[in-house]
Amino acid sequence: MALVLHEYRSQRLRRRQGTSSRLAAHMFTRNQAMDSLKKNKTSTSHQQDSHPDAREEEATDFCSGFKDVDAFVKYGLGSVLSATKASAGLPQAGDDFDFYRSFPGFREFCGVQGDKLLFCMSQIMQHHNCRSRMRDRHKITDLEERFDMVVDSNDVILEKVGILLDEADGVNRSQQPVMPAGFLPPKIVVSSWNRKGSSSGSRGETFRLLQAKNIPRPQLKFKEKVDNSNTPFIPKIFIKPNAQKPLPSYFTNKQIRKERPEDLDIPAALADFIHLQRTQEHVEDMFAHPYQYELDHLTVPENLLSKPEPQMYKPIEETRCSFVDTLCDLVALNEKLNEVSEFAVDLEHHSYRSFLGITCLMQISTREEDFIIDTLELRSEMYILNEAFTNQSIVKVFHGADSDIEWLQRDFGLYVVNLFDTHQASRALNLARHSLDHLLKHFCCVDSDKRYQLADWRIRPLPDEMSLYARSDTHYLLYIYDCTRAQLLDVNHGQPGLLQSVWNRSKDVSLKKYAKPIFTEESYLEVQRKQKKSFNTQQLTAFRLLFAWRDKLARQEDESTGYVLPTHMMRKISEELPKEPQGIIACCNPVPPLVRQQVNELHLLVQEAREMPLLKAEVAVQKTKGLLPIKKPEVTLFGPHDTSRVPESNTSYISTDELPVKQGVLFCDDHKSDADLLEISSLMSSAKISLFEEPGRNECQDSLSVAQKKARQIIESFENPFRMYLPSNDVHISENAKSDPSSKIFEISRRWKLQSMEQQQQDLESKMKAKKKAQEKAKKAREERNKAQESYEESLKNVPTVRQQAAECAKMEGKKRERAPSEAGDSTSIQNKKLKTAQKTKKPEPIPQDTFEPFDYSQSDLKVFSGTKAKDNAQFDPNRQSRDFKKKKFAGGKKNNAGAGKSMSYIAGRSDRGFRHNWPKR
Ligand code: AMP
Ligand code: MN
Ligand code: ZN
Repeated sequence: MALVLHEYRSQRLRRRQGTSSRLAAHMFTRNQAMDSLKKNKTSTSHQQDSHPDAREEEATDFCSGFKDVDAFVKYGLGSVLSATKASAGLPQAGDDFDFYRSFPGFREFCGVQGDKLLFCMSQIMQHHNCRSRMRDRHKITDLEERFDMVVDSNDVILEKVGILLDEADGVNRSQQPVMPAGFLPPKIVVSSWNRKGSSSGSRGETFRLLQAKNIPRPQLKFKEKVDNSNTPFIPKIFIKPNAQKPLPSYFTNKQIRKERPEDLDIPAALADFIHLQRTQEHVEDMFAHPYQYELDHLTVPENLLSKPEPQMYKPIEETRCSFVDTLCDLVALNEKLNEVSEFAVDLEHHSYRSFLGITCLMQISTREEDFIIDTLELRSEMYILNEAFTNQSIVKVFHGADSDIEWLQRDFGLYVVNLFDTHQASRALNLARHSLDHLLKHFCCVDSDKRYQLADWRIRPLPDEMSLYARSDTHYLLYIYDCTRAQLLDVNHGQPGLLQSVWNRSKDVSLKKYAKPIFTEESYLEVQRKQKKSFNTQQLTAFRLLFAWRDKLARQEDESTGYVLPTHMMRKISEELPKEPQGIIACCNPVPPLVRQQVNELHLLVQEAREMPLLKAEVAVQKTKGLLPIKKPEVTLFGPHDTSRVPESNTSYISTDELPVKQGVLFCDDHKSDADLLEISSLMSSAKISLFEEPGRNECQDSLSVAQKKARQIIESFENPFRMYLPSNDVHISENAKSDPSSKIFEISRRWKLQSMEQQQQDLESKMKAKKKAQEKAKKAREERNKAQESYEESLKNVPTVRQQAAECAKMEGKKRERAPSEAGDSTSIQNKKLKTAQKTKKPEPIPQDTFEPFDYSQSDLKVFSGTKAKDNAQFDPNRQSRDFKKKKFAGGKKNNAGAGKSMSYIAGRSDRGFRHNWPKR
């Protein structure tokens, strides 16, 4: 019971924070809307002015006993807060609780209150149509089940709250696509677009998915295969109408562009090389905006800066609407568009069953006609519209063109020169809202039905309802273009500044370049960072592996990542780290088809994550904040021979492979030619202790004692606990991309392809300079070293050794003692001793390397083995922690509210099903 309550409480606390902040945000916008409403009322409507207290009236209706939402929320939060406080005041589960429970009065009180609470909870759950058989509190075995019930109900309730808040904010999150009459509701289908038929969706299960059963994958009909590879997007353009600057040869020369060697049966590396050679000189062109020059030199003509007379739109019923799905019609449309001085454009898009998304429809409206283009059918021909789209004397009017500009580039190679974005106009006019439906209402008194916005636009033939909706997105836009232009001049006292700024902003939008989602080792952190909750190392690893799996599969199957595995499910799996494949299924509702299909692979990934050493969550969070690798604090104290503090820049070009460290030799004996000067920089390499050292293992294996060998085996059996701080080598690029040479291109471009040839040349030169400098330094160092050696040897001759001194003392004291055999022998042995101590005191700094280097255990605090407690052992040790905790509890005896989660130790043994991950985390 206490457990259920506790979890309930902390869950509520955690979730409530998110919900309440959204509530607050919502209240803010609501108040703003109220304000603007008020303003509108006072400025425009006389009729409404006659009811000045209309707002109050509406507000008093809100809820009995509360005058408005604020009052209600305030009261609600107050109640929650006091309940939370009260529950925190209960005796802690565990020892405290057990102690109190030994009093019958307490037991009875708990029983009565518990029943009351359970009743209350099940009432609430019933109200929300959740499972609610909570009341039999005597069945201890059902505890977990009841706990699950509470968690599930909380999910349901909070989900409802979220949806309602979204709705109040004007966002329609309804996942169900709008299906026109006659279309079947969404059902199943597990099929791969490129393995059509092989993975037949003949299973019995049906899934409530965002797709209709009878919609074939349009990708199958595309003439040009979709490029989901993990490579940057390269513009599709190959003809450039209205060019003031010609299209670079990379795009016009089919030879370079099309004959990418990945089609040939040659090794990937060779293909890379060939492609690189071919494209090197084109790199800059490849990633530039093809119409950058034209857009940079675009000026708005005078007539577009003067006040227009708004030209009323034709009634939609009287307007001709043509559905364009043949090349012939498209050409005719292009002809028409080239005759007008402006036309309106909009796109409809589908993103659920495709990795990059697909533009399904283009709507175009001139002053006279509406057109709906089937862009699934004409995808490869759409480019011909560039003639009108890039003609700077024809204005293209869009509403909120940011996405459209990118979709046009990605799918058709279309660009827009001379754009007017009514969304930008609305912003400049400071209208209450900037959505198209608001503008339609504001300027055209048209109530639009945005329900179809999220419809599945792949449906063919296009149902009438959808086509009507689609054309209404552009039909009124030219009129809105006129109205906003006129208003922009009016509000600015006839000065063109504001209007000009809208033209400029629109131009900026048209300069946007489409960028393909690129998977990198860090991509998952972007997504993970967005959640408040911190992950421990195992959870974070699971998240990383699942993220990579999802990306790979989504690219391969041409599905959205949300279709493969929605982020919230990915998060849940990572959080729970289920031990069984069934547990993974249990984290998903509904289970995505590809998850079901590949549940065993997912299970292996989760297992892999479970094998990670478990570090505290805080550390994991640090990592997510990009603090990798964690820097060591600067140590300013160092001995005269400690060269480990030599600035990194001085040593960066020296790899340890090139310069083996001469161990135990202060001054190397081989005075070689100047060509070997570099060797001297071995002095710059850090000293090493060889007891457990990796590299020399094979040679010195024999010279180790049995105990030493055993010790090494034990130490080697540990996983490096600091692995997470080291740059990982395992890049999780999709299997497809790995074998696909173009994926290498991405890698190459990341490293040096994106740099120009000149840059590379410069880099090379500066490297050479640095090397020369270093050589000179090394030469100097060598000279100094020689001097130092000479003076050192000199000093040795004159200074009596410690033993000599001791002998002298002994002599003086009259004690008989044998003298050391020879001075020379003495000096060497002492020298060796000195060296040993020097080696021990020097803290070697790890030399930065690209490759993974096993953790150097020789530096670790080995005291942990000797029984004494290491101070800051970052490694998580569940036993130690609970012991510590108990100690603290007994010693202090005071209540520790925050630690309540930990005190649930009496059921710790029941965590087999990954259940413990549900426990509240601090
Ligand atoms: P619109 O410009 O409003 O016609 O929207 C164009 C496309 O953007 C639609 O076909 C949808 O695919 C997508 N879209 C618009 N609004 C949303 C939204 N709220 N959530 C997700 N996708 C949207
Ligand atoms: Mn749009
Ligand atoms: Zn639209």
